[in-house]
Amino acid sequence: MASIQRVLIFLVLLYLVWRVLGIRGRKLSRELRESGIGREPRSRPVDPSQPLVRCAGCGTFFPAERIQRDRDGLGYCSDDCRQRLAASGEHAAS
Ligand SMILES: [Zn+2]
Repeated sequence: MASIQRVLIFLVLLYLVWRVLGIRGRKLSRELRESGIGREPRSRPVDPSQPLVRCAGCGTFFPAERIQRDRDGLGYCSDDCRQRLAASGEHAAS
């Protein structure tokens, strides 16, 4: 059947990817060395792997790691939002 051909094609692709990555990696590390070794930005913008949650106060989306929780378990983007909602009409649900 064609499964052997598929395996061969897969191996060829794998080889090509490996070569491309290898060449790129070497170039990249050389560039990094030339331009003052790997400066890692300390404050990354927003980690795309972070799940976003919605603020119960203002409705904006923000990374889940910055969540501020209410006594009721509601999530807020900041303490300000939490306090603002607590100050104005606290329990809309109950
Ligand atoms: Zn908010």
